[in-house]
Amino acid sequence: MATGHWGKIEAELAVDFDFKCAYCDKDLLASVDNYKEWQREHIVPSSEGGAEHMSNFALSCRTCNFIKGVWNPLTQFQNVTPTKAELIFTARKYIEQKRFETQEDINLYLELIEQYS
Ligand SMILES: [Zn+2]
Repeated sequence: MATGHWGKIEAELAVDFDFKCAYCDKDLLASVDNYKEWQREHIVPSSEGGAEHMSNFALSCRTCNFIKGVWNPLTQFQNVTPTKAELIFTARKYIEQKRFETQEDINLYLELIEQYS
């Protein structure tokens, strides 16, 4: 497969995740801005012992990667070894909650602007 400017791992990730962010479904080929958000994300963070391997990589937009940070989805599982899909689903829920909280902050700022203008 021709990979353009991507390395082999990026090309594999792209296909595995259908060119969409694993966490918010952003289409990373929809625009130059979206494309430039393209990141290889460690599902279990490197700092938490996450592997440098396809089994621990997700395709992510920059925003979701930033929101997730070093949060480790493994902390949500006790006495079971989750699948990659389960870890991604868990991280997705975490990111959705953080996005919701950020939107609440934005709404508050918008209300304040409205009040004082
Ligand atoms: Zn995203």
